[in-house]
Amino acid sequence: TADEKLRDLLLAHIHDVPDYPKPGVMFKDITPLLADAKAFAALTDALAGLCERYGATKVVGLEARGFILGAPAAVRAGLGFVPVRKAGKLPGATLAQAYDLEYGTAEIEMHADAVGAGDRVLVIDDVLATGGTAEASLRLIRRAGAEVAGVAVLMELGFLPGRARLAEALDGAPLEAL
Ligand code: AMP
Repeated sequence: TADEKLRDLLLAHIHDVPDYPKPGVMFKDITPLLADAKAFAALTDALAGLCERYGATKVVGLEARGFILGAPAAVRAGLGFVPVRKAGKLPGATLAQAYDLEYGTAEIEMHADAVGAGDRVLVIDDVLATGGTAEASLRLIRRAGAEVAGVAVLMELGFLPGRARLAEALDGAPLEAL
């Protein structure tokens, strides 16, 4: 099927790097995919298609690889792009959301006026691992008064409980892993 062909094309351009950035982690390196014009275009088209399927009015990309994937998808879908960044990087008034990591906590921010009532927001990132970052982004979107259209990622690490962690914040919205 078309979905399987896309999946094979994408998988062929993702490299597994063991023990990076620390022992025990299998890092999914998407730089070969970005460097391949055909694979990157196919990914962009698929993400733009999800924007349309879920009726998104805005794309949120999660720092940093969510910017690389989300921005061209937003342009292709005719939508604006909103960055969700690590704390301290955005110049305007922000909403901040802390979330738990394996050790300690992290914080992300979004400009408070970037999305609002009437918006349906699709969140895009490369890898869904624990789901902590995506979950926090969904809280930011709802706190800003917008609706969640869904979450779209290139890859979901199926051996981690990311999908389960996201379920409550998704509140019935779709999670798509290409
Ligand atoms: P998480 O909040 O645990 O779902 O982690 C998501 C963020 O960490 C994503 O933005 C990914 O880019 C990055 N990430 C987590 N695990 C991996 C991995 N095994 N390979 C590549 N990136 C990862």
